[in-house]
Amino acid sequence: MTGSSPRDIALFTALISSLAVAVIVCGVSLIFRGTVNWIETGFVFVLSFLVAWLIYYKALQRFIYDKIKLIFRNMHAMRVERDAFKLDMNKDVLGDVNKKVVNWAEDRMAEIKDLREKENFRKEFIGNVAHELKTPIFSIQGYILTLLEGALEDPNFNRKFLKKAAKSVERMTMIVEDLDTITRFESGTMSLDLEKTDLTELTREVMESRDREAEAKDIQVKFNKNYDRPVYAKADAFRISQVLTNLITNAINYGKKGGTVTVSFFDLEEQILVEVEDDGPGIDPVHLPRLFERFYRVDKSRSRHQGGTGLGLAICKHIMEAHRQTFNVRSEVGKGSVFSFTLAKA
Ligand code: ADP
Repeated sequence: MTGSSPRDIALFTALISSLAVAVIVCGVSLIFRGTVNWIETGFVFVLSFLVAWLIYYKALQRFIYDKIKLIFRNMHAMRVERDAFKLDMNKDVLGDVNKKVVNWAEDRMAEIKDLREKENFRKEFIGNVAHELKTPIFSIQGYILTLLEGALEDPNFNRKFLKKAAKSVERMTMIVEDLDTITRFESGTMSLDLEKTDLTELTREVMESRDREAEAKDIQVKFNKNYDRPVYAKADAFRISQVLTNLITNAINYGKKGGTVTVSFFDLEEQILVEVEDDGPGIDPVHLPRLFERFYRVDKSRSRHQGGTGLGLAICKHIMEAHRQTFNVRSEVGKGSVFSFTLAKA
């Protein structure tokens, strides 16, 4: 009977019952009349079969439907689609219900897994924020206490400690501003101001603003070729300058002393591909899939020491996603890294 529909079960049971009735009628007829009236017996058989089938079918339908309705109602309380209530009583109802319940359970499992991942991500993120803010807060606290305990009166130390405390405040402000930028991108409240932008001019300005850092490490920041004509793209100039600043600053910070940072533009059919390449130590492939995550760092202590918030690449990714463009990295240990993004041509 596995896989049978209520209709089949009702038919089978009605057949057995009506056969039993027919046998009883034959028996009674034999006892009282000494003979069997086959027409009468046939009529009783057909009639009892029809009545039994109707009763069984309806009862079974009611019973199964009531039970299933209960299951679905409970599932519905946990969001089950309306369609799931539609059952075909002429088919294998229980098998059908089983399939629907299994599908529903699988969907819920996937949802739970997703929620768990988000919850872990949220916990990790809060932990990271606390950790990042702890360092500057503790150092500000330290400097203030030292000043209060007497260093304030010491002209050799008071300005020095105040300057150090101010530097830590500056770092905290940077972290909070970067977090605010990410939150605004994630909540969709950050709007872009797209305009025709000359990428060569924008890059030149960023390169000039990084002159001091580059000089300090004897790094040459240059274009791959002489761009004597503008390269126009549809972009939010301020945000793209933020991306370029981040990539060029990283290339200088993590690049090797005396190295080179090269910015190139490539003409794709409908887009411009921008690449920022360095000849630094490169990044191990194991880090690449997580590199654009908030606070992800390859060399944790070194990067933090170099002053980065650990949010730069996450912001770049958000900016490029908001432009509906790509943002990528390729890197080879010992050879260097290439960070690239595309922009629509203007
Ligand atoms: P940070 O503020 O730490 O620089 P980013 O999000 O800008 O944060 O970068 C994340 C990490 O990626 C850095 O800490 C560094 O480990 C690695 N990284 C970024 N750019 C480069 C690069 N050009 N070469 C090597 N490592 C890099």
